This record gives sequence, C-alpha cells and structure tokens, in this order.
Amino acid sequence: MSNLLVVGSMAIDSVKTPFGEREEAVGGSATYFSISASFFARIRLVAVIGRDFPEDTLNFLGERGVDLAGIERSHGETFRWKGEYGFDLNTARTLETRLNVFQAFRPQVPPAYQESEYLFLANIDPELQASVLDQVKSPRFTACDTMNFWIEGKRQELLETLRRVDAVVINEAEARELAGESNIVRAARKVMAMGPKTVVIKRGEYGALLFQNDTIFSAPGLPLENIYDPTGAGDTFAGGLMGYLASTGDLSHAGFRRAVIYGSVMASFNVESFSYDRMRSLTAAEVHSRYGQFSDLAHFERL
Ligand code: AMP
Repeated sequence: MSNLLVVGSMAIDSVKTPFGEREEAVGGSATYFSISASFFARIRLVAVIGRDFPEDTLNFLGERGVDLAGIERSHGETFRWKGEYGFDLNTARTLETRLNVFQAFRPQVPPAYQESEYLFLANIDPELQASVLDQVKSPRFTACDTMNFWIEGKRQELLETLRRVDAVVINEAEARELAGESNIVRAARKVMAMGPKTVVIKRGEYGALLFQNDTIFSAPGLPLENIYDPTGAGDTFAGGLMGYLASTGDLSHAGFRRAVIYGSVMASFNVESFSYDRMRSLTAAEVHSRYGQFSDLAHFERL
C-alpha cells in the first residue's frame, strides 16, 4: 500500500444548517480528508493545531492508523471557521474565518514523509500548499483543493500551485469563480489550461464530474433522505478519491472513475450527521456496500 500525504486545516467549526447547529465542533479540511482516506490507505498528516484542539480527535485519528508525527502543536488558538447553509445545502456561507495558529504556520514535512508517493494539498493558503510541494521529492500523483477565500484573496499564489499539480478537486461555484466562466464545461477546460490534467468538479447533492483529456464522466449524487450537515463533504470526497487511487496505484481513466465513486460514497456518509460523527461508526463493509448502491443507481443498458 502506498503512502498518502495530506496538508490542510485542522479546525474548530461552528456550523448552522436548516436542521440544527453545532458550536465548536471539530472540522478542517485535513481532518475530514484523513479520516475518509484512512479507509483506503496509510495517511500522513501535516497540519497545525492550537492548545485547545481536542485530544479525543487526535486519538481517533491515531486509532484509524493516521500518522500524526507531522502535526505541529502551537501555543495559540486553533483555526476557527463559522459557516451556515440555507435550504440549498450545496453552498456554504462563511460568517467568520479566524486564522489563529495558521498565521505563523510554515509546514515542515518530516524527512520520513518526503518520499510520499501521493500528495493531497487540502484547502489551505496556496502559499503553504506550494511550500509542501517544494518539500516532497518525486510524488507519483499530486492534487489540490481550494475555496473562494483563496481564489479571491491569493489568486496569483493559487495559480502557481495549480501549475504544479496533476489534479484539482473543487466545487462547482469555485470552478466558475476561478475560471471566470459560468458554463461548467468551459470552466473545467479553462482550469485544465491552468495546469492540472485532471479536473474533478463536485456538485453537492447532484454528484461530481471528472474531466480528463476530452472525456467527461458523470458520477451521480446518492439521493439521501437524511442530510444534516454538508460541512466536510468536499474533503471526505477528496479523501475517498485519493485514498482509493493510492490503495490501487491504478491511475488509468477507469481507475479514476471508480475513485470518483469512492469519493462520492465517503461524502454521502459524512453529510448524514454533524462534524465527523458518522465516520466514527462507519465500517469498511458499509463503504463497499454503498459503492454497489451507486453502481445500481446509475446503471443502464446501451441500446
Ligand atoms: P468542505 O469539505 O468544503 O465543506 O470544507 C469544510 C472545512 O473547511 C471546514 O471544516 C472548515 O474548517 C474548513 N475551512 C473553511 N475555511 C477555510 C480556509 N479559509 N482555509 C482552510 N480551511 C478552511
């Protein structure tokens, strides 16, 4: 099994959805990513936490086999994000972002991690993403995520990171904003022209699109009766996708199609409860069974 390195945020989130709210719950792009990817591969995590980050989450990550040696413990407060969702659960509205310990964070990739074959730059300052790219020697496959906060605030730095990665995994609104193009197919083409040969666009409850060369694959969204909190859907999606690629080593187009479905599977579980609560009890058997559900959902005969 290959090693998958992730850098991103570990956060304390306050989230409000039409179905409830949760104050000071654990979140962060790297937290969600690692938990999800740990169902498939060996994960190495580089991030910064403050003195107030719950030990319980670190223990859970450890139990899931995530290597925590790359987590820096700082004296300040952990990164905080506050957001809300309306009945359209596909778009989060950011109410507050407090960088806290992120402000002084310069990621240090431990020597033992520098040979990692797979690298995911989760949503974090694109300058920090680039500094991790500098430190990893010759990864087989690299991908990144981002969000409007960085598209608007650090566009040039983000374009530099995009030039250097094999794939980008972003949501529909981010793709439109990044490309300055409302049509999603044209937006994906423009993003490919920025560097990444593979573009994956997450469309919330409507599924995901994979763009490679001239081929488009459309993954369905699983119609779920209970969706409580979409926070972390994008990161658990990326965790399933990257984790599956790292576990099989199959970077063919067919392999990517399966990886996009595993990403969708992981996201579909995560939205069933607040924070990463659903992932706590999730089993590998449930993951594989839901993959079958996706296959049944979208299956039809060619005439
Ligand atoms: P998503 O998977 O897109 O729903 O990502 C949700 C996570 O992103 C939350 O748990 C937040 O803590 C984290 N987040 C929000 N804003 C930022 C930011 N500017 N940089 C890094 N992480 C963020």
